[in-house]
Parts: sequence; structure tokens; C-alpha cells
Amino acid sequence: MKKPVITVIGSINMDLVTIASRVPSQGETILGEKFHLIPGGKGANQAVAAARLGAEVHMIGAVGTDAFGKELMNSLKREGIFVDHVKPVTHIETGVASITISEGDNRIIVVPGANHALCPEDVEQCEDVIAKSDVCLLQLEIPLLVVEKAVSLAKKHGVLVILNPAPAQPLPKSLLEQVDILTPNEHERDIILAGEDAQKFAHKLVVTEGARGVTMVKNGKPMRIPSFSVSVVDTTGAGDTFNGALAVALSKGMELEDACYFGNAAAALSVTKLGAQTGMPTEAEVRQFLE
Ligand code: ADP
Repeated sequence: MKKPVITVIGSINMDLVTIASRVPSQGETILGEKFHLIPGGKGANQAVAAARLGAEVHMIGAVGTDAFGKELMNSLKREGIFVDHVKPVTHIETGVASITISEGDNRIIVVPGANHALCPEDVEQCEDVIAKSDVCLLQLEIPLLVVEKAVSLAKKHGVLVILNPAPAQPLPKSLLEQVDILTPNEHERDIILAGEDAQKFAHKLVVTEGARGVTMVKNGKPMRIPSFSVSVVDTTGAGDTFNGALAVALSKGMELEDACYFGNAAAALSVTKLGAQTGMPTEAEVRQFLE
């Protein structure tokens, strides 16, 4: 059977993770315990989730020509993701997230770098790959103008668009109208719909609610699709796994309700392992889990 084709337009970051026993105070230097370089960025994470679940994934994004950029391109390629439309930029560094984990608390600073060098013209040059996709999947870690351009190109070609509005920001009404499915968590839902007639967009909302699952609207009424009970190790990347899985399921023609069920299963498996991308399940693992 032909693989579903998914284009992800989004961020590609290197996560610099430092584990320390406590947070240093101002002006203080302390010794940390461990350091990890982990590929991340919501765009890349969701691309990896979809590729593991059996889709042909094309990534549109930007990285620097530095060592992190090269390593991130290689890590996407190792997942079988097509990176022909990932733009290498020379004037700015690859996006990074500096993450300090101490005393069970996360402190994160994201420097978007090359992700913010992606421009609407770059996306215009990818019209052919967008046009042949079953689904376009986007987030908000790249400039909003790029998101708007990609969504309008996708809709020009009748491609289903899923927007995971994270990190949340108020969105133009025209974008909310064009997108087919919005996948905020509860906090993001409140921000993107602030000042809007929430009822008008209710039918396209799939709200992720952590361990409770997701809520969507069926026949005009809210319906909860419960998550699966698993032993949780690390919930980082649960939302990204859900979005990648939802895109795969919908691109195979599943009904939204069934696609949410599949997304919940993939996301539940992802929280049983450490790390965002490392914990993402394969198609066979999800199938086995659901047997
Ligand atoms: P985000 O990380 O983007 O805030 P959520 O926390 O809502 O997203 O999680 C996304 C999805 O991951 C949920 O809808 C659910 O399917 C799954 N999930 C998250 N936490 C758990 C958990 N503790 N047990 C099982 N599934 C979970």
C-alpha cells in the first residue's frame, strides 16, 4: 500500500540538556551532573513521530550550517525523513533550547535562530511537495507569516491542514478559518481563541488534556476520547507524538474519532520512555499495544 505523505512545516532545534542538583544563584558557578545533546523542536519531533508510524515525511524548515545543523539533518535522515526542503542558513545559528533540569524542575530558554530565518518565499518554493501531500502539519515555532503562507498553499491544493498551536499566541481569524484541525492543549486553546467566537471553531478543535486524553466535537457535542493508562516515565513529547500520529491516521482516511484513539495510543506509549523523540513508537508497536 502507498505510504501516506505528510509535510511538516516547523522548527528544528538541538536541545542542550543539563542535569544539576540545584539551580545556581545569580553570579554563582556550580558543577552539574550530566549533559545531553538531544534533537528536538516541535516540527522535527512531529516529523519523527509521523515517520516512525509509517508515513513518507517531508520536512520544511531551516537550520544553521554549524555542527548542530549538520547533526540535526543527519538525525532526520536516519528516520527516513526527506530534508531536501530544509534550508541551510549561514548568517544565523541552528535553533537551540537550553534546558536545565534540577530538583524535578525544568528551566528552558529557546533561541529560535535559523527557525526564524524561514520566510514565506521558502515555502512558496515548496509548493509542489505541499500539493502532493495528504496532510500538512504545522506548529508555531516558526514565523507566523510562514505558517500563514503554508496553510494558504495547502488549502489551494485541497490538502488537509493540522495546526498544533504551540507555543500559543493569538491567531488571525483568517488562519483559524483556513485550518482544518487545531490541536491545542487546554491552556493553548484559551489563548488562541481569546476574543473569538469559540463556538464557531469548536468543530475543528481536538483539545489534548494530558492523562485524560482528548476532547473533540461530534455531532455538535463535546466528546472525550480517554487516554490509555500506562506507567509514566517522561511526558516530554507526548503532544508531538499525538500530533504526528493524528496526521498519519487522518492521511490514511480514518475518521477523526478513530484518529484520536490512535493518537492517544501512540502518545501513551511515548510517555513510557525517556525523551521526546527516543520514546516515539513505531507503527508495529502501536498495533501490538492495541491488540
Ligand atoms: P502537551 O504536552 O502538548 O501539553 P498533553 O499533555 O495534553 O500535551 O498530552 C498530549 C497527549 O498525550 C494526551 O492527549 C494523551 O493522549 C497523551 N498523554 C499525555 N500524558 C499522558 C499520560 N500521563 N498517560 C497517558 N497518555 C498521556
